[in-house]
Amino acid sequence: MDQGDDELALHGLTLRGVACGGIRTSLMVPELGLMFDVGPRTSGQMRYDTILVSHGHQDHLGGLPYLVSQRHMVGAGSPQVHMPVEVIDPLRRIFEGWAEIEGFPCEVDLHGHAPGDSIPLRKGAARCVRSVHRVPSLAWIYERHTERLLPHLQGRPGPQLGAMRKAGETITETHVQPLLCVTGDTQSELFDREPLVRRCTVLVHEVTSWDDRRSVDQVRQWGHTHVDEMIERAERFEGEALVLVHRSPRHTRSEAERIVRERFPASVRDKVHVFGT
Ligand SMILES: [Zn+2]
Repeated sequence: MDQGDDELALHGLTLRGVACGGIRTSLMVPELGLMFDVGPRTSGQMRYDTILVSHGHQDHLGGLPYLVSQRHMVGAGSPQVHMPVEVIDPLRRIFEGWAEIEGFPCEVDLHGHAPGDSIPLRKGAARCVRSVHRVPSLAWIYERHTERLLPHLQGRPGPQLGAMRKAGETITETHVQPLLCVTGDTQSELFDREPLVRRCTVLVHEVTSWDDRRSVDQVRQWGHTHVDEMIERAERFEGEALVLVHRSPRHTRSEAERIVRERFPASVRDKVHVFGT
């Protein structure tokens, strides 16, 4: 692994990659085949065919042209890249610029999204909601879909259910579980106004600033979250794991872990994880 890279296994998901405030963010979840943001050159990015981008700042998106060009070189083709619709036109111009410089076109599959959009994926869907940052931004939520037997049919013998299915009767319903949310860069309003974000089993939330070297107001001016705001809100998280990412290089991991132990409410402390070396 490169410096800054980390890996964390939680509730059947592996979070792998880097999320260093202002420097580089790219988080991969191999079980879902999803990459969240595509900051410059992070180990393992070549394997992911679906990328969900939170916003257009270079530390979250600047790795895309290089990654796409590397994939073309090995015949892998473009990944499917989903992002706020506002980013699409300028990003196409960047790809056109590279095509002109390099002397050949680099095909790329870009998809623009507005809040509320949903993308069908294997065994589920990715839904985006509006996050609050200095540029148009989206938080992405992966919802897992599982087929469950209708409640009134539970306990019926298998052959009977098989016959009903053959006869065209509906015997199952889709259960939707919000499994993972990756916020990207955001102010704390996202947490306050999106119940679905608070309900995700695993919530990967940015906390850029961890002490009073930057006040809450200063951090908000840059579109980010201060740890004081997360401490205030943590007890309203309804899921199982709250993973704090995008820590500024001003703060070490051990400082952040000490703050979690000493300042987060005891009722949620065990759910809180610090990501990033
Ligand atoms: Zn940003």
